[in-house]
Amino acid sequence: MSGEKVRLNTEWLCDCGGCHVAIVDLHEKILNVFDSVEILKCPVLTDEKGYPEADIGIVTGSVRTEHDRQAAVAMRKSCKTIIAFGTCAVYGGLHGAGLAHTREEIMDCVYKKSPTTKTDFVPNNSISSLEKMVIPIDEVIDVDLYLPGCPPHAHFIFESLNTLVSGKEIHAGQETVCAGCKRVMKKTDVATIKSSYEGLPEEDVCFLSQGYICQGSVTLDRCLAPCPNHGMACSGCAGPTMQVLSEPTRDIRTEISERMSRLTAIPYETIKTHLEKTAKTQYAYAMATKMIGNKPTFLIKKWIAEGEAR
Ligand code: SF4
Ligand code: SF4
Ligand code: SF4
Repeated sequence: MSGEKVRLNTEWLCDCGGCHVAIVDLHEKILNVFDSVEILKCPVLTDEKGYPEADIGIVTGSVRTEHDRQAAVAMRKSCKTIIAFGTCAVYGGLHGAGLAHTREEIMDCVYKKSPTTKTDFVPNNSISSLEKMVIPIDEVIDVDLYLPGCPPHAHFIFESLNTLVSGKEIHAGQETVCAGCKRVMKKTDVATIKSSYEGLPEEDVCFLSQGYICQGSVTLDRCLAPCPNHGMACSGCAGPTMQVLSEPTRDIRTEISERMSRLTAIPYETIKTHLEKTAKTQYAYAMATKMIGNKPTFLIKKWIAEGEAR
């Protein structure tokens, strides 16, 4: 695309705004992007209400309202290449966890019960109402490129944009968060699962070896492993690996249960039961994707109900 600048549209659907902040938070690298990209529409940078014709379209967030659906379709029509940007767009994201509740429960919680946001009304006609499901965008429009991450790290954003702008093919790595983690997996005699607030984990030993649940080994690296390298276990915000997504018998709970039981003295079944009890957390970011929902081993609503009954 020599000479002419590449035209870029971005749009946000149901999301927290973090992915758009990440795009404009490329620091000095954004100047390199501006050299070759003309931003036509971007909710945090421009006041463009329409959908101008563009070469690249970045869509963040998932589809939860009629407005989201219309905006996604308008982006597809106006852009030659669509990037599903961020875990919400790719897998439904964190608010996919809302699928464990009815729409009425969610609206009541936000508008009637939550001490910090409750009011004396539940909006009906004034805002676009919630659709029944949280939907990753590729169930509504065709997607050309997936960039999960909550949000994706600036390194991956820049690499993707730069490669697309130069007209090259993108080769996305399939490494897990463990690949960038400095902690070492080793066999221990740890016999109980610990919560994150219990004890002080050793700095250089894998969280799993120490009895803490860490999702690094089942999570795609689109972040350069900041959490385990700075004292926090990975909560899987970039979404599951291709192995978890594509192999019917593998899922987050079986992968972690197998690995952790090999690294500690905690039995496989104990870990699996714990993960079922906390399924809403372990699967929060990818619960809305059919790739997870269609698994024969995927019984998340049942696990949640059983976990809550225990
Ligand atoms: S992927 Fe994460 S950062 Fe991006 S919009 Fe969704 S919740 Fe926010
Ligand atoms: S499981 Fe977590 S702590 Fe262990 S190596 Fe992987 S990312 Fe690091
Ligand atoms: S380490 Fe895990 S929780 Fe932290 S940013 Fe990466 S994927 Fe998300």
